[in-house]
Amino acid sequence: MTESIKMKHNSAATITPHLSKFNGGLTLDAYKSLSTTKPIADMEPCKQYIVPLQQHIGVISQPMVKVGDRVLKGQMLARPGDLLSAAVHAPVSGTVTDIAQHEVPHISGLSDLCVFIENDFKDEWQERQPLGAEYNHKNSSDLRKIIRDSGIVGLGGATFPSSVKQTETDVNTLLLNGVECEPYITCDDMLMRERAGEIISGADIIGHIIKARRCIIAIEDNKPEAIAAMQSAIDQDGTGFFSIQVIPTKYPSGGEKQLIQIITGKEVPKGHYPVELGILCHNVATAYTVHRAIHHAEPLISRIVTVTGHGVKKPQNIEVLIGTPMQACIEHCGGYTENSDELIMGGPMMGFSLNTDALPVVKASNCLLVTAKEDNPHKEKHMPCIRCGKCVEVCPVRLLPQQLYWYASSHNVDRLQEHNLFDCIECGCCAYVCPSDIPLVQYYRHAKTLIWQQERERRASDISRERHEAHQRRLEKIKQEREEKLRKKRELLKKKADDAAASDSENGKSKSDTDNKRAVIAEAIARAQAKKAERNKNKEAE
Ligand code: SF4
Ligand code: SF4
Repeated sequence: MTESIKMKHNSAATITPHLSKFNGGLTLDAYKSLSTTKPIADMEPCKQYIVPLQQHIGVISQPMVKVGDRVLKGQMLARPGDLLSAAVHAPVSGTVTDIAQHEVPHISGLSDLCVFIENDFKDEWQERQPLGAEYNHKNSSDLRKIIRDSGIVGLGGATFPSSVKQTETDVNTLLLNGVECEPYITCDDMLMRERAGEIISGADIIGHIIKARRCIIAIEDNKPEAIAAMQSAIDQDGTGFFSIQVIPTKYPSGGEKQLIQIITGKEVPKGHYPVELGILCHNVATAYTVHRAIHHAEPLISRIVTVTGHGVKKPQNIEVLIGTPMQACIEHCGGYTENSDELIMGGPMMGFSLNTDALPVVKASNCLLVTAKEDNPHKEKHMPCIRCGKCVEVCPVRLLPQQLYWYASSHNVDRLQEHNLFDCIECGCCAYVCPSDIPLVQYYRHAKTLIWQQERERRASDISRERHEAHQRRLEKIKQEREEKLRKKRELLKKKADDAAASDSENGKSKSDTDNKRAVIAEAIARAQAKKAERNKNKEAE
């Protein structure tokens, strides 16, 4: 812990001791114990890894390797494409066998550019120089660069580049999110139980970067083992920087704005960010990866994945290398049961259905949920909205879900934006309670995609118009420069002719000599003009 932070720990607390409630929400069956009976397991290495270059919210990362290259474990395969993009790294040592489109686990079901690596099973790391306790002597920007180069993104689901978040200033409180409120998912719970010390270490580094005065670790009251493990790690730390806030189990209390409201009693206003309240929120798994990056010089090449549900034989949490085919994870957990039904990435509320398991695990893959047929009673086509208002009651963001549904089904983009579609956190509470079984979140996701697409097209058309205008300006400039050159040349020739005439007359040369010279110069001018006319003609023809 740095000296500056230790001093700040003594400052007065600004967090209110009592807990508040957020609007709406649900109490759901948790099904957590399905996957918490066994410790986190390691996976056997696979023959091939498929690493997508788009695993974050920004633009696609730029490849730094080519087919045939030998890569070492942890080597950067692609650098960030923009500020909101993140680097991706080789999960194993081996050979790049292809860089091609492949289906990725995304809500769109579309393909994306991926690097294919054939494992050489040598597990040969690139050269690593861990900072260790030295990080205390590094400034924030050096540490942020390491975190950026390590490809670390928020592992709570947002996949927002962590180093960007950590540029915030005026942060009073680091809020570590260990809530994990969605049913079935237990990867953060197990991480806290088994690797509490490393989480505390990572949070300490983040605290150093953002110069936070305190770190509150929020954990739901249905995770007593995690609470005990984290408390023990805090006691060992002994700096007073950390404290645990146990909160009641309610969905979606793990949402960033909902959690802040529970703990501080303050609502982050629409269109504003938690940092405006002096709070920066990070997931516990993100803090763990920061620890690995600083103390072991390991980029983000693996994560804990909960493989669970009644459709998989041995539900369990496993540490999985990014790029591992999902079917290998399912096989590791005993394979599918006979009555398995749907494969979902994420939980039952916010996750999305996958139509194949031949997809790679990505940084956002917190859970592979395999449902059984009895979990999904066959539903007929949904019924019309009866305006019962139940969706409004449970919406934690105080939106009007039924209105959003109307506008989404009629593609009324303006009204959707007026009704704050983009504030929807896709928690699924509205769809869960809807008596007409309307898949409301699917409508919202589709509408958001549509609006993003329109925005992208508008930007692309602006860019193309600007490019055309710039091209025209360049042509005009070239034309003017050519004309200016010719004008100067003509002036020079005329001056030469005049000088020659003056000299002839001074030297008493005959008029016919002078006339001859003038004729030669006139011919030269005529030739230059003819060339210019020819050039203009060619240009027009182009
Ligand atoms: S819960 Fe369903 S039926 Fe009721 S108002 Fe909302 S969308 Fe309509
Ligand atoms: S999915 Fe969106 S609209 Fe529905 S309850 Fe959640 S935040 Fe509200």
